[in-house]
Amino acid sequence: MARVPARSAPARGPVLDVTPVGAARVADGFTVRRALPRRTRRLVGPWCFLDHFGPVRVSASPLDVGLHPHCGLSTVTWLFDGQLLHRDTLGSEQRIRPGQLNWMTAGHGIAHSEHGETPLGQQLHGVQLWVALPEHERRGPASFEHHEVLPGLHRPGVDVTVIAGTHDGESSPATTQHPLVGLDVRLGPEARHTLPLDATFEHAVLVTEGHLDIDGRRSEPGSLVYLGTRRAHLTVSSETGGRMILIGGAPFEEAVLLGWNFVVRDEEELREAHRAWEERAPRFLDPRSRSVT
Ligand code: MN
Repeated sequence: MARVPARSAPARGPVLDVTPVGAARVADGFTVRRALPRRTRRLVGPWCFLDHFGPVRVSASPLDVGLHPHCGLSTVTWLFDGQLLHRDTLGSEQRIRPGQLNWMTAGHGIAHSEHGETPLGQQLHGVQLWVALPEHERRGPASFEHHEVLPGLHRPGVDVTVIAGTHDGESSPATTQHPLVGLDVRLGPEARHTLPLDATFEHAVLVTEGHLDIDGRRSEPGSLVYLGTRRAHLTVSSETGGRMILIGGAPFEEAVLLGWNFVVRDEEELREAHRAWEERAPRFLDPRSRSVT
């Protein structure tokens, strides 16, 4: 991906800015919707990347993403449908299914692959997000977490899963390094729900399925709705049913640069990361680690 300086000032107060998402090609000619970063919106709290993939019916292609490096970020994988197998240079090998969370913190360097395991004829649908690591963590060791069960709120017509952070008294077990929240919110037909929010955070919503009214604005897949700061709650409703990902966090004050799979601070660090990967340096591929393909 192009080099993107990940700098955009958080709004000083509540807004409702709708940004169309872009298209990006990933492995196997597979096209995804890229909601972050966009020219007008680089960050939402520490969230610096949001890809929405599918729903796509898996045919001949397994939709594999081969071995590639990361640094300076955590990758967050969340599926609505389908199945993937994660492998990384720490030796992790982890299958992920809908409702489960893979949270990989790259620190100074890691490499991983994702193999499509969705059975032929079934759907793959999900999101992958990146969280920028703050200065005191970005050169630290890599780690990988898998969480089978996440907390949430479930009542007729309303399902809220806390992917990251704390929401409405429920906390995700995922380890985070900067204050943030990530939710999967599902509403049935004619449902309405008010989400309590941390007013010091900035927030954004991506509808992934159906139609939702976000603070009165009708929204559907294909656009990111940026909500700004100073919102203590958000009301969402739906006539026909819908699903969305809500992300938020304390404004991330550090200047960050996104280049390919790296989140760094400047061009020199970006060149160094590329060089280290080309040389298969221990930073990304420790020779003591088991081979990953
Ligand atoms: Mn990756």
